[in-house]
This record gives sequence, structure tokens and C-alpha cells, in this order.
Amino acid sequence: MDTIPNSPAARDIAYFFHPVTNARRHEQVGPRIIERGKGIYVYDDQGREYIEALAGLWSVAIGFGEPRLAKAAAAQMEKLPYYHSFSHKSHMPGIELSERLVKMAPVKMSKVFYTNSGSEANDTAVKLVWYYNNAIGRPNKKKIISRIKAYHGITIGAGSLTGLPLNHRDFDLPIANILHTCCPHYYRFGRDGESEEDFATRMAQDLEDLILREGPDTVAAFIGEPLMGAGGVIVPPKTYWEKIQKVCRKYDLLIIADEVINGFGRTGKTFACETFGIKPDMMVLSKAITSSYQPLAAVLFTDQIYQAVADNTNKIGAFGHGFTASAHPVVLAVAMENLNIIEERKLIQNAAAMAPVLQDGLRKLSAHPLVGEVRGLGLIAAVELVADKATKRPFDPIGKVGNWVFERAHDHGLIVRAIGDSIAFCPPLIIDAAQIGEMISRFRKTLDDAQ
Ligand code: PLP
Repeated sequence: MDTIPNSPAARDIAYFFHPVTNARRHEQVGPRIIERGKGIYVYDDQGREYIEALAGLWSVAIGFGEPRLAKAAAAQMEKLPYYHSFSHKSHMPGIELSERLVKMAPVKMSKVFYTNSGSEANDTAVKLVWYYNNAIGRPNKKKIISRIKAYHGITIGAGSLTGLPLNHRDFDLPIANILHTCCPHYYRFGRDGESEEDFATRMAQDLEDLILREGPDTVAAFIGEPLMGAGGVIVPPKTYWEKIQKVCRKYDLLIIADEVINGFGRTGKTFACETFGIKPDMMVLSKAITSSYQPLAAVLFTDQIYQAVADNTNKIGAFGHGFTASAHPVVLAVAMENLNIIEERKLIQNAAAMAPVLQDGLRKLSAHPLVGEVRGLGLIAAVELVADKATKRPFDPIGKVGNWVFERAHDHGLIVRAIGDSIAFCPPLIIDAAQIGEMISRFRKTLDDAQ
């Protein structure tokens, strides 16, 4: 890129290695520097406005530029800027948020453990499963089943749970004891003549077959996003979760619901476990918990797990897991204020009310020659672009057109995310009907450019 020496773009290229970015292409195109945000909009350093149709990374639920969160952080920083919660230490933000999350949970949970990212929270969930099974004398029951196209993060453990080639390839993942079963995407993986219901039955049968092949005594848990996000916004068939849970219970597998994207209203209910009737043993929360104003994730787990773990810590001296910034008081104070705002402004109700506006609005694009499938639920959706609507044939190579649309959307004042050739939408929960209309109109203009 022909950048002015010492300009922010030149310095970015010189020093800043970006996550999930093609490094060589970045050298050519340079950064898009986002300077500020307000509501559903962000603005770059050239003053251009964009609708943030993905709420950052599926996360800024209350919208950008909320001064109350800055005030909450400042007040906590002045009072107690940091303290840990190792070795019986505690603080009020930790006590208050834990009580609140346990009371909010859709099934009876016992305790909350905090991390700084969804990846660390999923690592924690896996370690808790292993610790629990060691504690109750089942040292061989350790395998965790995830799914193809799942996204659970990128650390060595969570990256292994993720079921996407980009996050495995050349990182030597997945590690041992992590398995992947089928992805419940009917449009892509349903067979000719197979009903959606039969497809759900086959998905559950594939899971059971995998458990039987591995040996039920070696399989400890199933982890899933109730509605898959970063793998392409995949809404499972209606009876999918009921059938999957039956198999899990039959072979005594713990169920981990990864609500990192789904949680706090995204599907129109507080948690997607309610939307899909899931009764998890553990829940993993992040993103909208602070609207990403601060990094935070939480693992909630049942009393059955807690009691076994607690007995074991007593036996061996302590629970040997925790981060310096686990339950950081400033972060938790921001989470509390963020949840206050979600409640006061009835943002979960707004998500439910705006859901048909988004879903019906995007489905009007179904007739567009590039659109293969429009899917979604609540305030999350994807539009899958295909080379041939009739045969569902994808573009070759997959992702080229998606990337083009992602880039071109900026020219229309729109930030989306391309997952292969699926364009994802996950706007802030504050969005109103007029703004949804404008977002879809900007997207339609982008699609028209692609014809
Ligand atoms: N789980 C899910 C469902 C996610 O979507 C993500 C991130 O997008 C993660 C876990 C990982 O979270 P983090 O990026 O904070 O590590």
C-alpha cells in the first residue's frame, strides 16, 4: 500500500499483527481505522459512517458510546481498581454479579467462574468436566464431542472444540480427546428427499453412533452453541436439541451450552437454552454480558458438578485453576451496569419485537439471483450466496464472493461479516425498525453491485 510515511496506516502495517486477517493482503490494503461509535453506528478516521450490522463481533448489545458504562468503570477504578479472588478473597462486584447470573439462568445453576474471554471460558468448562470425572472416579470418561462448523474460540482447548478448518490448519489442532459430530445445517447437509425432521433424527443417530464407536465410558460431554454463530448462523431443526439431549442423557454426557453469542437476548429470549428447550449442566456466557465494553466470560455450572469439585478441592488442597484477571472488579462493575441497561431499556423485548422485521426483511431478498438461503432467528441472521440457486452450488473458491460483498458493503456504509459466502447479521439489540430497513437497503445495494 502506498501509505504516507509515519501515517497511522503505515504504522499499523509496520507494527500491528491483526487477528483473523490475511497478513499479505493487509500490507496491500491497509487498515480501516475505526475512531468512534454511537448507537448502531461506528465512524472511521475519514469521518465515514457505517451501520455496525454485526455489533462489533456479535457483542455490542447496548450499542456504542454508552456513557453509563464508562462511569461504572471509572467509579470502580477509583474505589478498587483491581483485586483477585484467589484464596478466599472476594469483592462486591464478584458477589453481586454471580448472584445475578445464577438467578437469571434458565435452569438451576450453582456457581459462576469468570474468565477474560469466551475461549478461556470454554477451556475452563472442559477442565471442569475432566476435573469432575476424575473427582467421581471416572478417569477414562474424558472425550468431549463438539460439532463440525462449531465456533468455541481459539486457545488450544477451545480451538480444538471449534470445528472450522481455518482455526485448526497449521496450528496442529485439534488435540486428543476432542471429537466432532455433524453440523445441523439442513440446507447444506440435508439429503435429497429427507425431511427436516428426519434430518434431525439422523443428526442424533450420528451422535449416538460416534459415542458407541468411541465407547460411552470414554465420552464425557457434548458442547454446542444452541444456534451456531461464527460457523455461519445455523439454526438447528425444531426437534434437534430434544433428540440430541436424549442421546446425551442416555450415555451420561454432560451438556455444555455455549451461549457466548446467543446469551442475553440475541434469540428473543434471555438465553437460547429457553428458545430451544435445552437443559444444560454448564452454560458459557460472554460478549453481551458487558456488550464487549470490557473483556469478560463466565461459566455457570450445576450443584451436581459443584459438589463433586468441592469435595475434591478439599482432598487435594485447592481448585488449581484461575486467571490473574478472573472476576476483575472493574469488568464486573461494567457487566452489572450493562445488564441494568438491558433490563431498563427492555432490550430483550426489543430483540423479540424486532425479530420479524429483520427476518422477514432479509427473506425478501430470497428472490435475488445470488441468494441461496436466508436463515436466522431473533436478531441474528445470515444470507448465503450461491453460484446456482437451483442446485445450491457454491462459488468457487468458496468465500471469494462473500469477501467481495464484505468489502463492497463498506462503500454503502455497512459493516457485515462474511463467513465463506454467508453474510452474517447480528446488530445491536437497540436497533429499531427504521434502522433495520436502512441496514437491509444498504445490503441490497451491495448485492446489486455484485450482479
Ligand atoms: N464461543 C462462541 C460461541 C463464540 O462465538 C466465541 C467468539 O466469537 C467464543 C466462544 C470465543 O470467545 P473469545 O473470542 O472471547 O475467546
